[in-house]
Amino acid sequence: MQSGSRLKRALITGGAGFLGSHLCESLLNHGYDVICMDNLLTGAAKNITHLQAHRGFSFIQNDVTNGLSIDGPLDAVLHFASPASPRDYLQFPLATLKVGSLGTEATLDLAESKGARYLLASTSEVYGDPLVNPQPESYWGNVNPVSPRGVYDEAKRFAESMTMAYHRYHGMDTRIVRIFNTYGPRMRPNDGRVVSNFIVQACKSEPLTIYGDGSQTRSFCYVDDTVEGILRVLFQDSDKTIEERTDKSNFLYTPASAEQKASIHNPINLGNPHELQVKDLAKMVLRMTGSNSRIEHLSLPVDDPKVRRPDITIAKKLLGWRPTFDIEAGLAKTIDHFKARLLEPLAS
Ligand code: UDP
Repeated sequence: MQSGSRLKRALITGGAGFLGSHLCESLLNHGYDVICMDNLLTGAAKNITHLQAHRGFSFIQNDVTNGLSIDGPLDAVLHFASPASPRDYLQFPLATLKVGSLGTEATLDLAESKGARYLLASTSEVYGDPLVNPQPESYWGNVNPVSPRGVYDEAKRFAESMTMAYHRYHGMDTRIVRIFNTYGPRMRPNDGRVVSNFIVQACKSEPLTIYGDGSQTRSFCYVDDTVEGILRVLFQDSDKTIEERTDKSNFLYTPASAEQKASIHNPINLGNPHELQVKDLAKMVLRMTGSNSRIEHLSLPVDDPKVRRPDITIAKKLLGWRPTFDIEAGLAKTIDHFKARLLEPLAS
């Protein structure tokens, strides 16, 4: 991977979250100064405790939806702030909508004023309950805007739209990653996602809660692979000159093509294409933890996507990126993490 040597000071919103904290750590390892901003709604101070001693690291507790200002130069702004687990965004629907809309605008404005490169964390949820499997970036999705999970899907769709508008209108150097289900150490044991739920339930000998019949599919990517993909997108040189990016006469006349043009400025899927049924994930977790938990079936959440699998052709072609951890290797590391966490006092 390129070192991104031209970019040296980065702001990461949502930097105390699961994915954000791994990104802070990786950017510090690449020699960046990192400003981590988080309102700690779903992020946690303990995710970044180990970074506090690092000379290049600073933390600002702030809600980006109320605006933000940063002294000094910035080379990169990475907008990762948002509740991301269904349980969280169903609990905080308005905060989710605001951070995807007002928060995206505020961070784009900041990046523009600093001349910084901008990277938006988007999601496979922009595809909703997809009618096409696997999902290429050119698929427009199947989203119910008024369903409970529409708050996350539409917030991220709006965020993508606004990011592309800043790119086209202001000629900003922007990037968008559509992140598929990612798991690994520092997920909250109680965040409600399937990987954390199953591992914690198995370790506590509690029933594994399968929603519906468990035939729905997801494709799980280990966090180190996701972070590597994000950094490749961030570090990749721009494929357009400023003049090309601000050629406003061309906005409406870009020829439509079935396949989205591979460009670093268009959304890029990052995920592991290995697709699993949820019931098979449950069996795998039981086997790998040696647990004697039973399976309990609960009702399926409203509009729960029936399938999800990334088409990563563009990421492979443009970035030379592909996941390296298979599900068993990633789960083994994640199980170790949760076992250690569950031994901590007041684990939640
Ligand atoms: N799920 C489940 N049991 C759980 C948590 C989730 O069966 O305890 C299912 C959920 O209905 C969905 C899939 O697992 O079909 C992935 O859910 P998750 O919340 O991890 O993320 P999503 O992909 O829905 O955003």
